[in-house]
Amino acid sequence: MNKYIPGLGNPSANILFVGEAPSYEEEAAGKPFVGPAGRVFDDCLKNAGIKRDACWVTNVFKKMIMPQAKSGKKIPATIRAQQAGLDVNESITELRTEIDEIRPNVIVALGGTALWALRGTDKILPWRGSILPAWNYKIIPTFHPAAIIHGEEGGLYWWKYIIEFDFKRALSQSKFREIVPPYRNLQVCRTSAQLQDFYNRAKQRANGKRIKLAVDIEAIRCVPVCISLSFDR
Ligand code: URA
Repeated sequence: MNKYIPGLGNPSANILFVGEAPSYEEEAAGKPFVGPAGRVFDDCLKNAGIKRDACWVTNVFKKMIMPQAKSGKKIPATIRAQQAGLDVNESITELRTEIDEIRPNVIVALGGTALWALRGTDKILPWRGSILPAWNYKIIPTFHPAAIIHGEEGGLYWWKYIIEFDFKRALSQSKFREIVPPYRNLQVCRTSAQLQDFYNRAKQRANGKRIKLAVDIEAIRCVPVCISLSFDR
């Protein structure tokens, strides 16, 4: 069949979501993200407080391409698109024109193919949740909702919570167009006196209240080489 499934939603949307390509249920319904991945997508939107009909939802490829095999070597979406008779460059140009018509404040790249189309890299893990520039827009990559059902891109069920976290970030970023990097005050503690200073600062900021402290330990062969502590006040 290979039916054309256009993007759908609010043409004045502040948030635009880009997936890979429609699948069987999308072909049948003529709309993007209505199959199993679409149901996860809807759930994540709801939990992030985003109304789907306020957004624009589209795909890099507007026609169905062969889904990624469950096992064995992964075939890049560009190859699967060519196998489906799609012109990759034309698809990207069409996506760009579509995005320029909507002019969203933030674009959420759902999965590696969308990230590749917008930024030229398909590595979601190192980039997810980051606020990045692409095509004169601000983008936030996150996992594809299908990853948590089919395990694509190494997906795991709890990634759903990460998608929701990234969607919430997209919602707050959708209020304005500029890229404003989060404020960080980095202090490298090489001595215990510096660590004591960090602790005193955290205590002072807490001002008698409880604060959340995050800890990350980097180790080489089980030997801790770097411990980072952070607090959000
Ligand atoms: N459905 C879509 O519309 N896009 C995807 O990327 C996956 C499922």
